[in-house]
Amino acid sequence: MYVVATPIGNLGDISLRALETLRGVDLVACEDTRHARQLLDHHGIKVPTLALHQHNENQAAEKLVRLLGEGRRVALVSDAGTPGVSDPGARAVAAVRAAGFRVIPLPGPSAAIAALSAAGLADPRFLFVGFLPARVGARRTAIQELAGVDAALVFYEAPHRVVETVAELVALLEPQRTLVIARELTKLFEQIVSMPLAQAPAWLAADANHQRGEFVLVVSAPPPREGMDAETERVLAVLLAELPVKQAAKLAAEITGQPKNALYARALELKARPL
Ligand code: SAM
Repeated sequence: MYVVATPIGNLGDISLRALETLRGVDLVACEDTRHARQLLDHHGIKVPTLALHQHNENQAAEKLVRLLGEGRRVALVSDAGTPGVSDPGARAVAAVRAAGFRVIPLPGPSAAIAALSAAGLADPRFLFVGFLPARVGARRTAIQELAGVDAALVFYEAPHRVVETVAELVALLEPQRTLVIARELTKLFEQIVSMPLAQAPAWLAADANHQRGEFVLVVSAPPPREGMDAETERVLAVLLAELPVKQAAKLAAEITGQPKNALYARALELKARPL
């Protein structure tokens, strides 16, 4: 089974190998058949399609395995970008490989990598987060857990949630971290801007267009932490021995007057340390 990356906006962003492969297969499994048909029609490709989305992925995967068993050649695409990256595909890939068939990736567009390539951040590492949880509490917890990760963070976000998410990032991460907003990549109104996180709410509010379209948000890695004094470390360690990370960090912040974020990040490090 060929796993084929497709454009994230600009139809020209499809590889020669992807086109050749899509022309050569007997079936294209895709998230949305109408969507895939547009791409295939654009390139004059007449291959039949099969819907494979998050609600039928297991059954569709069984069908793909059956077809591969009959000697058919199959490709898998998602609506845009790379299948399996915040998109269906992983379960089908696992089922196909478990059944003994080869899975062959055809690399190409992915919004996260496109955004990173133009973000201009010096951080040597990044963590792909994808979409944060939609519910406020779960989203906050997720951001708090990411606060101490020593890497740039890459988020996907929908336009109706971008203002809220950016507000949470500002509230829970160091305000001097850089935020790169990559909007409508490869499309007519592509826009890539970077600014200190603290300035992002004002930028989003400045123009209704700034909140439209598809978004990748990239936050630079946390600034190097000032060494924590020995007494703060001691208090944190004592609390951590008895309490969950969040509670320990909160109490340590109250006792020592040190910032909660830094204590939380340090608590995570201490917790992750092998005994
Ligand atoms: N599989 C895709 C990939 O490889 O990038 C991602 C699919 S995910 C369902 C869709 C999300 O990706 C959007 O909500 C947005 O956050 C991001 N995205 C996709 N296309 C984009 C684009 N042209 N510009 C900015 N972000 C994009």
